[in-house]
Amino acid sequence: MEIIDLRSDTVTQPTAAMRRAMAEAVVGDDVYGEDPTVNQLERDAAEMFGKEAGLFVSSGTQGNLIALLTHAPRGSEVILGDKAHIFLYEQGGLAALGGIMPHTLPVQEDGTLELGSIAGAIRGDDCHFPRTRVIALENTQGTVGGVPLSPEYTRMVADLAHQHQLKLHIDGARIFNAATFFGVSAQDIIAGADSMTFCLSKGLGAPAGSMLVGDREFIAEARRNRKLLGGGMRQAGVLAAPGLIALHSMSHRLQEDHDNAAYLAARLKEVAGLQVVCQHTSFVFFTLDASAVLGPEDLSAELKKQGILLRPYPGFQRKFRIVIHHWITAEKIDAVMTALKNLLG
Ligand SMILES: *Cc1c(COP(=O)(O)O)cnc(C)c1O
Repeated sequence: MEIIDLRSDTVTQPTAAMRRAMAEAVVGDDVYGEDPTVNQLERDAAEMFGKEAGLFVSSGTQGNLIALLTHAPRGSEVILGDKAHIFLYEQGGLAALGGIMPHTLPVQEDGTLELGSIAGAIRGDDCHFPRTRVIALENTQGTVGGVPLSPEYTRMVADLAHQHQLKLHIDGARIFNAATFFGVSAQDIIAGADSMTFCLSKGLGAPAGSMLVGDREFIAEARRNRKLLGGGMRQAGVLAAPGLIALHSMSHRLQEDHDNAAYLAARLKEVAGLQVVCQHTSFVFFTLDASAVLGPEDLSAELKKQGILLRPYPGFQRKFRIVIHHWITAEKIDAVMTALKNLLG
């Protein structure tokens, strides 16, 4: 039975080309700076985003933590969204390991933090206060539904940060989905941010790894912090090789995922007993009506018997999240629709 996994874009498997590239990768000791494949990935990622340098890291969580450790000393503060991945889903690593205080602001439905509330949250010079050092945005914003933040908005936040000598960090786990949505280059979508992490392993399909980009001095310090966290890998070129394919080719095909997400959202409206909440980029959220013939757990279990993996969004009872990725074709969406109609109709 073929499995159709709709739970997340983290489930993507490496493509045949990626597996070949892994087998053939030229490698060296990356802690010595001698892995040519890692070095190329770091150079290419930096160049694509208009930055001086890049760093290959084990995960998005590690990239965000390294960025914050590098920008913000102990006892300082980062302004970020109350629905940000960094705040919700990274074990509070910034506080646990960095002694950095999160100053949260409400994430709006459009994924932004209100400019006025960011300005209001920046601390003045007063010995009672922690010092603000960083503003962190998330693009696309995951928990509100994969909402892309525009380059214009990001530019305004970058300008505000720089007026106050703060750094802007972007958690760009799905930054290429945002660039694709707005039809702008990788460089334009980050609009003057000082640092940015993005995932090679989600919609871009690499088996593991994320990138951090920034200026040369920042990346040199970030490299130290990566080692501090035990993230210095040796012959990591076997992972950088599929990362290069993710960066250079998979990043250009995301419109297909967005189109498939829109197709799925339109077709879900044909199914009795559920309501589409929103569709942005590769994300679709829907809720299951209380009056539906199956409850959320039973629906998941019945779908699983047919090889379709879909479950309520963690923390929500009747809300489901689907993330479209390159393994989910329109034909597979049609198969999911048939299954849903049979179960709920
Ligand atoms: C996935 C994700 C991350 C990083 O996740 P890892 O599993 O640690 O790679 C960071 N931010 C957002 C918004 C994400 O979706």
